Amino acid sequence: MKLVLIGCPGAGKGTQAKMLSKKFDIAHISTGDLLREQMKRGTELGKKVSEIMNSGGLVSDDIVSAMLAERIKEDDCKKGYILDGYPRNVAQAQGLEAITGPLDRVICYDVADDVIVDRMTGRRSCPKCGRMYHTAYNPPKVEGKCDDCGAELIQRKDDNEDTVKNRLKVYHESTAPVIDYYRDKGILMVVNGVGDINDIFNTVASALEV
Ligand SMILES: [Zn+2]
Repeated sequence: MKLVLIGCPGAGKGTQAKMLSKKFDIAHISTGDLLREQMKRGTELGKKVSEIMNSGGLVSDDIVSAMLAERIKEDDCKKGYILDGYPRNVAQAQGLEAITGPLDRVICYDVADDVIVDRMTGRRSCPKCGRMYHTAYNPPKVEGKCDDCGAELIQRKDDNEDTVKNRLKVYHESTAPVIDYYRDKGILMVVNGVGDINDIFNTVASALEV
């Protein structure tokens, strides 16, 4: 089973991808993780990626494609895989099919922008132990302090309202055509991404089992 998950930053698709990967015994491939892994392992590709990123450039589609082509040859992809974070535009979607062949399903997690803004701007993390909090949904016992180690909680720079709104705008502009592209192919499934994570998972899992 070959799946692509689409959703804006903060839509929770990473969590859903992990759950689907476990349920169907297929690999979860996040292109962001893949890039970081290559750099860590110091492969030829990884060195190239480090150079590009260090000079502030964008990693080209060709590099990501080459990386994906290698990755899906690995053993854990025999039964299939879930792509998370890719493709982000139509050119990438077209290039992807040359590598993977036809996809089975593209799942789009739909979450309203104001819900995303709310989710992201409330996030706080502990700089010492890494524990995550949310000011409204998962607050620490003492405001602004980590339950585990007492450190002062911080907000990531990227999680302020303007940055989140800007990222959403960029996301919609580039992803809307990708969504249309897959809808035209008849393999798009749009899921409401707001609610209990198990309910969202079950909706998708049962649709995929049919
Ligand atoms: Zn802590």
